[in-house]
Amino acid sequence: MSKTLTPVSAERLAECADAIAEAARELAAFGWTPATSSNFSMRIDDDHAAITISGRDKGRLGRDDIMLIDMAGKAVGSDHRPSAETGLHTQVYRRYPQANVVLHTHSRTQSVASRLFAAEGRVHLEGWELQKAISGYTTHESVLDIPVFPNTQHMPDLEAQVDAWIDAGKPLYAYLIDGHGIYTWGRDMAETRRHLEALEFLLGCELDLRRLSP
Ligand SMILES: [Zn+2]
Repeated sequence: MSKTLTPVSAERLAECADAIAEAARELAAFGWTPATSSNFSMRIDDDHAAITISGRDKGRLGRDDIMLIDMAGKAVGSDHRPSAETGLHTQVYRRYPQANVVLHTHSRTQSVASRLFAAEGRVHLEGWELQKAISGYTTHESVLDIPVFPNTQHMPDLEAQVDAWIDAGKPLYAYLIDGHGIYTWGRDMAETRRHLEALEFLLGCELDLRRLSP
């Protein structure tokens, strides 16, 4: 028997939808969400999240482009279809109770880096001052590994790979999907934005190093 979910107030959903739409418009302005790609979500309570409706232009998002889902990724009180990758968002909320926002973008830098590092299965970051933008990192000397998982249209396969990484006890702050983009999360929108911007910058630096190294 499924448990009864606590109702979500229209005000709370609207508040989250506004925060997601604002962030999405800004990330779209950076060129990180081409051709209606990318998806964004925010945890509302233990049982619900707000997430972007599938296929909307992320540069023009408004409150009505965000919908309510339960933690199984099912629409709540809406006939709209949530993002195709909803399962990856709810997985983060299940695995990381402290995470309240998930941002997923498809920038050119993220896409190229994901292809370049796919064979290694990770991007190994070390020695960059900006690693300190990731919560829990206090020095550039620490090692930050961002896994690169093979792309698939079958979300349970991707979820299984993410679970396997976490279950192996390896720290996870973000992951790339080969030829696709990045997922990252944080306690709130500001922290998650900081993670995403730092990772975009760090991946760009790694690409530049390879371009410039003899
Ligand atoms: Zn995607």
